[in-house]
Amino acid sequence: MEFEVWYLLVIPLFFGLGWVAARIDIRHVIEESRAVPRSYFKGLNYLLSEQPDKAIEAFLEVARMDPDTLELHFALGALFRRRGELDRAIRIHQNVADRADLSQEHRLKALYELGEDFLKAGLLDRAEAVFRKLETGTHARESLRNILEIQVLTKDWREAIVTAARLEKLGCPAQNADTAHYYCELALAAMLKGDEQAARADLDNALRENKRSARAWILLGDLEAKAGADDAAIAAWRQLEEVNPAYLPIVAERLTQAMLRNDRQAAAIELLMDYLQRRPSPDLLHYLFQTVAQARGWDAARQLAADELKRHPSLRALDDYLQASNAVRQADGSVEDRVAQDLVHRQVSRGDYFQCGGCGFKARQYFWQCPACARWESIAPERQELD
Ligand SMILES: [Zn+2]
Repeated sequence: MEFEVWYLLVIPLFFGLGWVAARIDIRHVIEESRAVPRSYFKGLNYLLSEQPDKAIEAFLEVARMDPDTLELHFALGALFRRRGELDRAIRIHQNVADRADLSQEHRLKALYELGEDFLKAGLLDRAEAVFRKLETGTHARESLRNILEIQVLTKDWREAIVTAARLEKLGCPAQNADTAHYYCELALAAMLKGDEQAARADLDNALRENKRSARAWILLGDLEAKAGADDAAIAAWRQLEEVNPAYLPIVAERLTQAMLRNDRQAAAIELLMDYLQRRPSPDLLHYLFQTVAQARGWDAARQLAADELKRHPSLRALDDYLQASNAVRQADGSVEDRVAQDLVHRQVSRGDYFQCGGCGFKARQYFWQCPACARWESIAPERQELD
């Protein structure tokens, strides 16, 4: 290929084109930046220099001057809600929702955000009213979930059952376990009122929702025991052996009492022994220990605690053992032994609590729903030992 003079023109031409393209880009950027309000840059500056309060004020000014900046409105609303400035979040979302020129999609989003603000502010009636407007359409699932949360908070169990069923129809994960708890709550209320028939119907529904509901079987046992049908009560409580043995420590005391009422001491001891063989449990051991001490004396109780100490050492088993030892020795026991027993007992009492596996909440009594994080059955049905 021969060199021709016009080739020399190609390189300057490319440079020229590049220069023109750059000029066009720069002019475009300058035009755009002129269109952005100065407050926006001020806000950015404050953000970069870690002055979030001033940044928010600057962005608010942008939002006031230019109502079209919808995303900025939503971002500010969400930020205020996160910071706990709920009155400001509500104002922003209310303003957006009230605008006449809004698309349907943005209006629904603004309404949903407003509902979340009300919910966080504890204005449950207003939150529910907003979510009710959204229970069909694009925000249906989240809205129904929030409605359910409100109904559980206000203990409106009948309505909660309806909402849970609607959520399932929308393709949300199965709600049966929670629904069984709503029925159990209704049964409990009916039992307190002395309405045995209503309680029985609610428990039937609870078991239809969740055949393995430990709570429903326990309540059914309580209902039978209250009606004087100890055999039926014992049979209901013993269902836990199959459906959920982890809850046996919760019923151990009632089960033992019902058997003792019917002169079945030996059978009660045998049953608790069997449970303890299957799974170690300081709570079960304690009830068994008390029953053995009552029925067969302190020597037998001490032997039981000693055996269990060897198999599954625990502070509670040691407490039982020392109590039995001192009772056997009576006046012959040394002062040191009594002090040791007292110290161990105090330590056990201090750590005698149920704990939520979700949030760590601790309580002396057992709760089916954690009072702190509102989860069902997140509290282990066995008392914990002090760490
Ligand atoms: Zn919790």
